[in-house]
Amino acid sequence: MAAFPIIIAPDPELKKVSAPVERVDDGVRGLMDDLLESMRAANGLGLSAPQIGVLKRVIVVQLPAGEDEEPDPMFLANPEITWASGETYGGEEGCLSLPDHFAEVTRPAGVRVRYLGRDGETVELDLEGIAAKCVQHEMDHLDGILFVDHLSALKRNIILRKLAKWKRQNAA
Ligand SMILES: [Zn+2]
Repeated sequence: MAAFPIIIAPDPELKKVSAPVERVDDGVRGLMDDLLESMRAANGLGLSAPQIGVLKRVIVVQLPAGEDEEPDPMFLANPEITWASGETYGGEEGCLSLPDHFAEVTRPAGVRVRYLGRDGETVELDLEGIAAKCVQHEMDHLDGILFVDHLSALKRNIILRKLAKWKRQNAA
């Protein structure tokens, strides 16, 4: 396992569409572990493979610890939404690729997601609340979509311009 640097927007790599994995083998499991370690090092709730420069449809989500237990990390390969509730859920989102920027994003409140798990098993799971939100956010990355793409062009451009400036200053 290794923690990799996370690509910061705006970056053309984050706009690419990732390819499905053929199967979950040791290589994909290694990628899942790298994602988990990179996510934890950056204090995130989720991370997708393209954010560390790997254009594969693999994401990791770990929800915050509850009162008595820490939820297990979820490893999802080739995730697909097979059902979405008509009800929507707002709430602020952030992203490790857009550090220090947050905005309200409205998404379906509940989704059913089908994916390959860590052992290559097919899983179908109903999610709601923060879990549904996180998984939808990470899945967007697999299609080159960032949370700011759900905002108005005006709000999106303000955030992306600030990030571009921040990147220039940090590179200098
Ligand atoms: Zn993100």
